[in-house]
Amino acid sequence: MSARGEELTTQVETIRAVRGTRDLLPPETARWNFVESATREVFRNYNFHEIRTPIFEKTELFARGVGEETDIVSKEMYTWEDQSGKSDGAAGAGQSLTLRPENTAGVVRAYIEHKLWERGLNKLYYIGPQFRRERPQKGRYRQFYQIGAEVIGPPSSGTESPARDAELLELLATLLDRLRIQDWRLELNSIGCEEDRARYNQALRQALGPVVRKLCDDCQRRAATNPLRVFDCKVPADQPIIDTLPRISQFLDEPCRQHFDEVQRILNSVRVPYTLNDRLVRGLDYYTRTAFEFTHGALGAQNAILGGGRYDGLSESLGGPQAPGIGFAIGEDRLVMSLGDSAEAAVRKPDVYLAPLGPGMNQEAARLARELRRQNLIVELGEESFRLKKSLELASKMGAKYALIAGENELSTGVFALKNLATGEQRAVARDRLVPEIQR
Ligand code: AMP
Repeated sequence: MSARGEELTTQVETIRAVRGTRDLLPPETARWNFVESATREVFRNYNFHEIRTPIFEKTELFARGVGEETDIVSKEMYTWEDQSGKSDGAAGAGQSLTLRPENTAGVVRAYIEHKLWERGLNKLYYIGPQFRRERPQKGRYRQFYQIGAEVIGPPSSGTESPARDAELLELLATLLDRLRIQDWRLELNSIGCEEDRARYNQALRQALGPVVRKLCDDCQRRAATNPLRVFDCKVPADQPIIDTLPRISQFLDEPCRQHFDEVQRILNSVRVPYTLNDRLVRGLDYYTRTAFEFTHGALGAQNAILGGGRYDGLSESLGGPQAPGIGFAIGEDRLVMSLGDSAEAAVRKPDVYLAPLGPGMNQEAARLARELRRQNLIVELGEESFRLKKSLELASKMGAKYALIAGENELSTGVFALKNLATGEQRAVARDRLVPEIQR
């Protein structure tokens, strides 16, 4: 293409990605693939199976599943009236649909819809985009990605057991270790069962009574409708007041306390370190008993890499059978951000840049590239009209280990010039020795 043709047109206004969304470009995408393949491997070790649910659902699913009073449902969802009802011949207005802000509600809906318990499918994981209209900043996007897992099943399948909570937390510690992410911190709490929370909410309302006017508008609303959500508040001026409120740990009944104790005993026995934090109540209404978050120091203000908890009543609230469950969602964007340099090694550069030299050599080089790629080498195939100097520059720029020159001479003698781009050393190598030589 001519130099002129490569210039950006300036007359027409360019279109940019929507605020809060972003393009993931190479080599960054290789880090994402590294995380995803390591994660899939860990899930396989623990016998989890992948589920893929639609990225939009009926709005009601989230309203009922996540909770009307949560920040997610009350302010952050991408919701629209869909007209499909009309074009399908149905009367009346379209239905309200929403881009999924999280995936647990969708997984539980699918669990109920397909009666997954009948197939013994009770350990599921997903990887995919989620959408929330939050104020964009580093580590916080409007389209972001979550890797999540759910253990859900009828009580007879043992999903209520504290052993499942501990297993899931140990899985997460294993995953972070495999990704060589250090300095993570597990914060753990139990938010009890519905009855505990009813008593706790009453105590909170009482404690909030005399101080509520000093809190932010959101907290004043929460205090009236769902006082537990006051703990989601991020307003600095409110924190000293919130710190004086009673804590859920004082309101757990005996079964909930024992459940929580057993989770901790197993964690101690597998040596997964944790810190108790009885302010941790999580921003979604469906949680019961165990609630947790993993944070990472290097992430700055948005330091939560992942969160999760138990949701024993969620299936029933979505019209399903009794199905205790526990799950987590990792923020993949933040997980990738907290990877050290270890991920760089996982990004494989081309083994060889194959440079056809002179007219007619594209054909020959295509055959040679096919041979090498069949041996699982990463081959970048050049172009016969490029001069050797240009080919070598391109090869270095993309970080290829070797440059392999394929000119008329090489093809007729069957001996090729193989140049190590790091050392500059060049050797003559016979065609049938190329693969072992490049792999060396
Ligand atoms: P949640 O579903 O709110 O419990 O979030 C689970 C995890 O998803 C969090 O710990 C974050 O790592 C990640 N996350 C949530 N919201 C966002 C966002 N807007 N942008 C990036 N990551 C997010």
